[in-house]
Amino acid sequence: MRQVEREPDVAIVGAGVVGLSVAHALLDAGLSVVVIDRGEPGQGASFGNAGAFAFSDVLPLASPGMMRKAPRWLLDPLGPLTIRPAYAARIAPWLFRFWRASSGGAFQHSMLAQVALMRLARLETSALIESAGLSDMLRSDGALELYESAGELATSLPGWEARAREGIQFRHLEGRDAIAEMQPGLAERFTHATFVPGWQSIADPYDYVRALAARVSARGGRIRQAAVERLAPDETGVVLHLSGGETLRAGHGVVAGGAWSKPLAAGLGDRVPLDTERGYNTTLPAGAFDVKRQLTFGGHGFVVTRLADGIRVGGAVELGGLDLPPNFKRSEAMLAKAKAFLPGLDTSGGRQWMGFRPSMPDSLPVIGRASASARVVYAFGHGHLGLTQSAATARLVTDLITGQSSAIDLAPFRPDRF
Ligand SMILES: Cc1cc2nc3c(=O)[nH]c(=O)nc-3n(C[C@H](O)[C@H](O)[C@H](O)COP(=O)(O)OP(=O)(O)OC[C@H]3O[C@@H](n4cnc5c(N)ncnc54)[C@H](O)[C@@H]3O)c2cc1C
Repeated sequence: MRQVEREPDVAIVGAGVVGLSVAHALLDAGLSVVVIDRGEPGQGASFGNAGAFAFSDVLPLASPGMMRKAPRWLLDPLGPLTIRPAYAARIAPWLFRFWRASSGGAFQHSMLAQVALMRLARLETSALIESAGLSDMLRSDGALELYESAGELATSLPGWEARAREGIQFRHLEGRDAIAEMQPGLAERFTHATFVPGWQSIADPYDYVRALAARVSARGGRIRQAAVERLAPDETGVVLHLSGGETLRAGHGVVAGGAWSKPLAAGLGDRVPLDTERGYNTTLPAGAFDVKRQLTFGGHGFVVTRLADGIRVGGAVELGGLDLPPNFKRSEAMLAKAKAFLPGLDTSGGRQWMGFRPSMPDSLPVIGRASASARVVYAFGHGHLGLTQSAATARLVTDLITGQSSAIDLAPFRPDRF
């Protein structure tokens, strides 16, 4: 006799770090889940990111400082910020909103929302990592932001003062000796730095997502490979239409499709200004350099991260949509700079990667119910911070689905805020 599968309480679209964290939180709440992804878990942006739990990164990218830096950065075709000419017209409305979000009042509003989400993220990340038994993957050695002059540090001070007002700890360092104590081997051009002790990292972001997926399965959650074409809510649940004509019914649906979430939300009547900030990196073999903690070269838009079995060099923002081919000259340009900044770096044997950050113009994710139905909840648009905010998002989504009051004010994250 054919076994009839029980309808899951929740179907989650997307097996990235956000979707899988949501699955964990829902299982904790006693609900049954299916996670659906068109590929293997963790092959999207969650695959090759810099692995940082950047809880102190509360300043939205859309900021007055960024608007000052952007014109200079845009002049360098392989620099920290690029707009692919073939995509310029399509990204223009997003950029207009980005510009509006960077103005004083809007920036302040987004920053306070980010502070609240990050506080929750710190708590929920520790809880998730501990309950999933992944504590051995967590590193708590802080991060070092590097500057090439007293002037560059001075320019960053308002941002640090804003963080200090929110209780974020850091320490400015002056002089090459003080910096060398934190990270030997840096080029002499770095004269100032800021050490952020509360910054944490994961030993390898892909291993982390795979471990989350394995634990979801071990706890009875299902992971299915299929492309979801649309979600159709009704009074008692949601029907997911899969490619190939199959359908799947669940009590609730969660859209956690990262940079690909826009058409799913549009199918439910929500026109969200989601786009992608493409990022690039190179992962070098272990031993390429003795990196003590994450190094951030903010003036150049990239970071150097120590992974479990390698060194990852990358970052940058390329506005080029989801379809244009990658331009790996960007990875090469960052690697060449990293070599200049860490002269002992062995740049041989690297593996290049490009990922699609799912980005909203105001740097805040979308966490909230679809306007068409409370049975669908959105969890996407985390931009540069999806790993950092995944566990917090999972908690907020679970509270929405189980009808609990929310741990933080969700108004700034509403899908219809634009
Ligand atoms: C270079 C780089 C460095 C970064 N560094 C950091 C960092 O240090 N710290 C940090 O916090 N963040 C970082 N990020 C950002 C972070 O990687 C992302 O915000 C995060 O991975 C987004 O997770 P996600 O689960 O929303 O999306 P993804 O990981 O992209 O997962 C979405 C999944 O949904 C699936 N999907 C989409 N649509 C459908 C559909 N219709 N049907 C079926 N499946 C579908 C996709 O196949 C994909 O697997 C970085 C990003 C880049 C590119």
